[in-house]
Amino acid sequence: MREIFQFFKVAGKTFTLSLLVLFFTVEPTRALQIIYPKSPNTEVSASSTFFIGNTKPGSKLTINDKEVTVYENGSFVEVVPLKDGFNRIIIDSQNDTEHEIFTYIIKKVPEANLMVKEPATENFPENQYIYAAVIKENTPLRAQPDENAQRITHLDKNTVLMLNGKKGDYYRIYLSPSKSAWIKAENIVNYSAIKGKMLASATKVSLSEDKLYNYIKTDLSFPVPYRITETEKGLNVELYNLKENAADTTVFNQCGTINSFAVNSTAQDMTSTYYIELNSKLWGYDAYYEGNTLVIKIRKTPQIEANNPFKGIKVAIDAGHGGDEYGATGPTGVKEKDINLDIAKKLKKELENRGALVIMTRTDDSTVPLKQRPLIAKQQDALFLLSIHANALSDGANPYEKHGTAVFYYNAESVELAKLLRNTLIKDLGTRDDGVAKYSLVMTRPSLPLSVLIEVAYMINPHDYAKLLDENFQQKTAASITSALETYLLNSANPV
Ligand SMILES: [Zn+2]
Repeated sequence: MREIFQFFKVAGKTFTLSLLVLFFTVEPTRALQIIYPKSPNTEVSASSTFFIGNTKPGSKLTINDKEVTVYENGSFVEVVPLKDGFNRIIIDSQNDTEHEIFTYIIKKVPEANLMVKEPATENFPENQYIYAAVIKENTPLRAQPDENAQRITHLDKNTVLMLNGKKGDYYRIYLSPSKSAWIKAENIVNYSAIKGKMLASATKVSLSEDKLYNYIKTDLSFPVPYRITETEKGLNVELYNLKENAADTTVFNQCGTINSFAVNSTAQDMTSTYYIELNSKLWGYDAYYEGNTLVIKIRKTPQIEANNPFKGIKVAIDAGHGGDEYGATGPTGVKEKDINLDIAKKLKKELENRGALVIMTRTDDSTVPLKQRPLIAKQQDALFLLSIHANALSDGANPYEKHGTAVFYYNAESVELAKLLRNTLIKDLGTRDDGVAKYSLVMTRPSLPLSVLIEVAYMINPHDYAKLLDENFQQKTAASITSALETYLLNSANPV
């Protein structure tokens, strides 16, 4: 193969590269395989990239003449520093019978220019508003007119909004004299300009319960924006654009796990605040409109049998990615989606052996839309939602430094569960502690069920990767997650 390489070399750089790529693509018996970078012509803005791939075990591998470790299963991972402009990188793999050389040209480009000229904020005339309705469920309301800005809350379809400004493709929502937020124009319709404010009335507030949940229902003249925040003792709910609330003069009795419920409305702030105190920790909550009625649903503390804590407990398991979505790819070409499913299936078995009722967001290699996954768990009244993943890094990071087990959460109600899972997993698996972090993800944002995303280990660290491929390690992971859930139930649920 060296001869061929030499031959093309004289034919000119660009020509060499494209033909070489073609040649190696059709060559069926090659030993050297590069998984990442995905293309031999890549642009990177970081000051390093990494080469991830595999060759015949026992081969001598060099990248730009530097010898690189080839692991037992043939995998290799090497960080390659990049200088500005074009970087020519030669990957050379040699053993007794084969000698292969790949050439990659990586262009280091400057970081994306963040000094994009911002559009001006347009303020609508004093006391003039545009009225609009939300057209998509679960639409984020943001602190700034930017899709990366913090989410203030999510709005339900048909929520009525007062808009008093515009910036780029975002509208500013008037929540109260002291509060505003931003929504993307594509999520709203039905504009009509009106002079003066249009405020809603809350005509009735009631508390009720069933076997699994407490409910707080508020009848409104039309659906208004609201925001729920977790507190030490329960939840606070702010309802905006209100002129009055019948609950202000009502005394509420204790109901289900709701210890106390108080309402405070301020006319000048057009806001009604609900202070909900629970007699136990939060086990999840949800809020939605049924017509003009706002329903706040709070999960009750589950009842467990101390010697059989999983009996009747519903656990939703999400094997990350699947079908067309591969997730990360490891050095020998195994895809994250398959490892996630292997672990998820073992976890299902482990939990079912203990009496749990398991809901899977996928049981095979099918493509399940990401946003549908939490809904599957919620519709089935799962108590926990665990999303199983294996981690990867972007260019600029070093897979030898950052590896191990991480657990992500978003809502404060899930912090304790996330920490317990992380502690149990690193102890049982002997993986590096890669931390517990608040991370806004589709699979961590649900407040019902308790939701966490587990990054078991890294696909692109050769040692972690070898573990992820090992059936015993997968089984240990399943047993470890199960034991963490058991501890959580025993510590926090109510024994019957
Ligand atoms: Zn993943």
